[in-house]
Amino acid sequence: MSRLKVSSLSTLFLWIFLVMASGSVAFSSSSSPPTDMTGSSSGKTNKRSKTHHYYSALHAVVNNNNNNNGNNTDEEAAAAPPGRLEELKQREAELAKLLAAVRTEKLSAIRSRPLSIGVLGFGRFGQFIARSFQKYGRVVVTSRSDYTDIANGMGVKYVPLSDLDAFLEEDLDVIVVATSILSFESNIETLVPHLEKDLVRRARQGKSIKGPLIVDVLSVKEHARQVMLDLLPAGCDILCTHPMFGPESGKNGWNGLTFVYEKTRIDGVVLDQQHQSVIDNGEAFVDFRGEVHSIHEDSEAHIEAMDRMERFLSIWEEEGCHMVPMSAKDHDSFAANSQFITHLMGRILGSQGLAPTPIDTKGFQSVLKLIGSTTADSFELFYGLYKFNTNSLDTILRLRSALDEVVEKLKVMEEEEQKKKALSS
Ligand code: NAP
Repeated sequence: MSRLKVSSLSTLFLWIFLVMASGSVAFSSSSSPPTDMTGSSSGKTNKRSKTHHYYSALHAVVNNNNNNNGNNTDEEAAAAPPGRLEELKQREAELAKLLAAVRTEKLSAIRSRPLSIGVLGFGRFGQFIARSFQKYGRVVVTSRSDYTDIANGMGVKYVPLSDLDAFLEEDLDVIVVATSILSFESNIETLVPHLEKDLVRRARQGKSIKGPLIVDVLSVKEHARQVMLDLLPAGCDILCTHPMFGPESGKNGWNGLTFVYEKTRIDGVVLDQQHQSVIDNGEAFVDFRGEVHSIHEDSEAHIEAMDRMERFLSIWEEEGCHMVPMSAKDHDSFAANSQFITHLMGRILGSQGLAPTPIDTKGFQSVLKLIGSTTADSFELFYGLYKFNTNSLDTILRLRSALDEVVEKLKVMEEEEQKKKALSS
């Protein structure tokens, strides 16, 4: 085959791939939510997918093709006898159709395979989420403590944290890190060399997607984001999440409960926190250097990585969560004045040793409930909320001055009352 034909054909294959990429999005948009336990992308999930990203990439390739030193089908055809162009177009369409069918089948095969989800940190929260993940895929857990019995009881596989190679050999699509906030960084540090090994293993197997998607569920987000960006190998995609509920508030299901997430890194591209919404709106996104990308980009790895992230997010959607895309920075600012203050009040009231009385009001019952729910979480978690959210100290200081202000108001009122009494007597 001449070089000219090879060049035309490879461009054609790239073109076809992009047609199929766009086709695959359209395909998934029309698919209905999974009725089985496979965790396939649902209709809801695909609300976030944007067909036109792929179309714009397609146009870029077609334009490129037209400027390609004359090595293109059109120019070849221009010099060809009449009818030749039509014939070439027909062949092109047939090939495109064939490859589109293969690509669609491939993506649907990927989607029909249940996700393999690893949970690192099988404590209170790790167990809580693993129970729901089981409905959507195969779950393998690892933890510092021996949870063999609990894992067996739940029907998930337990691998000790001391054997992270064995954990990664489970061929995990996603690893959810659910360790304490305080130990998060050291756990990621420990994981990294094993991930690097795993990347080599996957590359040898010829996988287009490089490494597992790493997800955190920490209640503080800027810290988790920075640690993962600093330490994780570039071949691992990153998703920062915070389910705004736990074993207590989510014990009757996750319907209507808030799930915050930030798509942090996909296929090596770090997404800018402040422009997170741009991704969901379409056209383009801005990376951490301020560079604009069209979504994108023409690689199979990128499309698969996006698909995998959406499939993981769809688990929370399928469970009925209220999905909130938000930057880590905004999350921490909001959380200090909502979640942290709730925990702080629960701890303060709890440390007063309050107990039920025979004449409890509804309000006091709520106070006792607050104490119960906040102190059910470990003190380590509470300390993590304080230490790794730069806004938490401000919250404490403002609470303290608000307390002083209220007490001062009481004193002033009392003094005025006494003055009035003294004047009238
Ligand atoms: P936690 O006390 O914050 O974390 C306990 C987990 O951390 C256990 O899996 C424990 O492993 C692991 N761990 C602690 N120190 C470790 C160390 N030095 N090395 C290795 N592993 C260590 O309690 P949690 O409620 O389970 O929370 C886990 C994560 O979920 C936290 O990041 C928290 O912010 C997040 N989260 C919790 C809730 C909630 O309602 N509880 C809600 C949303 C998000 P072992 O058990 O094996 O010792």
